[in-house]
Amino acid sequence: MRIAIAGFQHETNTFVSGLTDLPDFEQADSWPELLAGDAVVTGTQGMNLPIAGFAQACEEDVELCPILWCAAEPGGRVTDRAFDTIVSRITDALGQFGTVDAVYLDLHGAMVTQSHDDGEGEVLKRVRTAIGPDVPLVASLDMHANVSPTMVEIADLLTVFRTYPHIDMAETGARAYRHLRNMIAHGRPAKAWRQADFLIPLHAQHTGADPALSLYDQIAGFDHQNGQLAELALGFTAADVLDVGPSILAYAAAQSDADRVADEMLARLIAAKPEFDVTLMSADAAVSTAMAMDGDKPVVIADVQDNPGAGASSDTTGLLRALIQHRAGNAILGLIHDPELAQRAHALGRNARFQAYIGGRGPNDAPVKAKVRVHYLSDGRCPYTGAMYGGGIATLGPSAALEIEGTGIHVVITSVRNQCLDLAQFRHFNLHPERARILCVKSTAHFRADFAPIAQAILLAETPGQFPCALENVAYENARKMDTWPYQRSAK
Ligand SMILES: [Zn+2]
Repeated sequence: MRIAIAGFQHETNTFVSGLTDLPDFEQADSWPELLAGDAVVTGTQGMNLPIAGFAQACEEDVELCPILWCAAEPGGRVTDRAFDTIVSRITDALGQFGTVDAVYLDLHGAMVTQSHDDGEGEVLKRVRTAIGPDVPLVASLDMHANVSPTMVEIADLLTVFRTYPHIDMAETGARAYRHLRNMIAHGRPAKAWRQADFLIPLHAQHTGADPALSLYDQIAGFDHQNGQLAELALGFTAADVLDVGPSILAYAAAQSDADRVADEMLARLIAAKPEFDVTLMSADAAVSTAMAMDGDKPVVIADVQDNPGAGASSDTTGLLRALIQHRAGNAILGLIHDPELAQRAHALGRNARFQAYIGGRGPNDAPVKAKVRVHYLSDGRCPYTGAMYGGGIATLGPSAALEIEGTGIHVVITSVRNQCLDLAQFRHFNLHPERARILCVKSTAHFRADFAPIAQAILLAETPGQFPCALENVAYENARKMDTWPYQRSAK
């Protein structure tokens, strides 16, 4: 049994003007660098990644043919050069392998390229052309996938993460393997696909609470040994494409069963719509609310719209300004992407004091000017310890923790964009998050896995950022016509 495997992941934020190019896929960031050949398996072993879970699940009779695996930090559209180069490497290798019994792809599902609004649909098309119509083709997707009809049609089966924070990525890869084996033994399943006609902002999607918690419990309830499977992708709202938004997949031996399961799940999703909590607070309200809380544990404030894990710049200053203005005291804020400032801190050395200009390089923002002390310096190789990424390493680049003098506020500055979602990203800098009064994280929901257990409360702040979460303010141009909650089509 020979199974070819490859991974090519990107979550594209089409509201960001910059492009995502080949070097972004080649370098390490929140995830490993581009891996090729056997390194796809050895370099991801033990990590919470779909392809690692797939490889781990393989039985002894399987000979894996690993091609490549790569991911870039979420950002603007993927260049044609990066897309064509990476997909050609996959299809060329498939050509060279000769006959394989099946192909598994570790994809995201919300990739948009310069030429293709449906990036994964195009990947699947090219792979299908390379392997022909008869070889089973299975892919796993992020739960933020914007699933398209092309993806559903070409892949024999798509399986999707069921947690946000995504603590089940490896488990999803293992599920892809089980269903692929089942398909090889019993044939391809019938499939059904349904799209919802509304968008769910990502800060309301987290699966630690209802309604997402119950919806995913119900999804798991459809799994049976006969190969029946239901999946729910809640969609990535910052990709202004036709197929943005939630969708449901169902697979079963009989078409009538697949249709019934998909219809049932769609009805449950529609019924849950009013329960999604889309509340956001202003930065001022979040900071003053946090300061008024008197529990022993820190209050976490999430800067949900400046999440680099959703393509934002991770350098906006709204929340930092609010902390300083309110004299919030013992607080830590991260991660601010500011390579210039990190370099300056490294040049001056630990405990140096200087006038810094922090973040704020984007439009409609300005750096925070402040006297700082260099609290800690690092080369930025930071092993994760939390449930989501534990076993992997964050590559932050040359980085520093700075204390804003006279305020008690510390900020963590990095040279590589990384989402702040693991307590190790503060502890690595000799900071003690559980002793702080306020922790500010540039993350939408992934921080919950590691930060919620030490927090007395979590507040979601709406400060300017490139990942819009108040969807009623978003001017979509390419999204299909939808219901008006909470998204309204622009007047255009
Ligand atoms: Zn995701």
